[in-house]
Amino acid sequence: MKNKEIKILLAAPRGFCAGVVRAIDIVEKALDKYGAPVYVRHEIVHNKHVVDDLKKKGAIFVEELSEIDDKSRPVVFSAHGVPKAVPAEAENKKIFYVDATCPLVTKVHREAERHHKNGYTIILIGHKDHPEVIGTMGQLPKEKIKLVETINDANNIKIVGPVAYVTQTTLSVDDTKDIIGELKKRYPNIKGPVKEDICYATTNRQDSVKQIAAECEMFFVIGSNNSSNSKRLVEVARKAGCKNSQLITFEKDFPIKEIVKCNKIGLTSGASAPEKLVQDFITEIKKHTNVSIQELSRTKENVTFKLPKML
Ligand code: SF4
Repeated sequence: MKNKEIKILLAAPRGFCAGVVRAIDIVEKALDKYGAPVYVRHEIVHNKHVVDDLKKKGAIFVEELSEIDDKSRPVVFSAHGVPKAVPAEAENKKIFYVDATCPLVTKVHREAERHHKNGYTIILIGHKDHPEVIGTMGQLPKEKIKLVETINDANNIKIVGPVAYVTQTTLSVDDTKDIIGELKKRYPNIKGPVKEDICYATTNRQDSVKQIAAECEMFFVIGSNNSSNSKRLVEVARKAGCKNSQLITFEKDFPIKEIVKCNKIGLTSGASAPEKLVQDFITEIKKHTNVSIQELSRTKENVTFKLPKML
């Protein structure tokens, strides 16, 4: 097979976003400043490799504060955000916490609160059980925020009085547009965000996939099964015309036999996937066939977020 050459169209921007970089930095800086161990509530970002690396440096991952054995140690809240009850519980238990919620998720929390104060019932468009959705819903009293996952939900929801909507930050741009369209038909005066809630990183990564997926025989997204933005990239690639689009989690073998039959494949990575994994994947393909790489950059990103003052 070595005389054959596969062209890899490499999407850009891809991989780490500013919120992920900041969240990982926060755990590392907390380890430097306070020493190990530092607890982290939930996977800091949805990537096993990132989590394993931080574990080696002294982070202990828990799902709930009740699992923290040594309450004298700091705890970091993950980039996805937490319900208000979580910092309240930490304060109650006198556990020192550092909040690594992405500022763009915090923006959605504040928006939801503002609408609530102004007398609106809020519709959150998002995926049930995703930690970001749990965190956003947990900013308000239960009866004041309702989850809509699909167009069907949008058609069936019943709310009396003024309505506003917010969204999860990592949704499919196109699917969300359709759901918002339905909600606007049902509630013509519905209030939306001033600037949309789907974040710049999600939008840019989806745009760059749309640009190349149609001309690829297979499309690969490096990411994790629990990463919302990575799973959306697979769906976007399929919708854009590459039916054989898959998530590469590094938990099972790569489909090398299928890959070497292709002439052109596409490749990107989710916002929580390290670039090293993209390069490892390319290195693996190179063991089986010749490869040429063309990187197609759609937009330049220069977003950075400040660390919390205490670090
Ligand atoms: S995907 Fe967007 S909202 Fe999520 S951490 Fe990255 S920048 Fe923040």
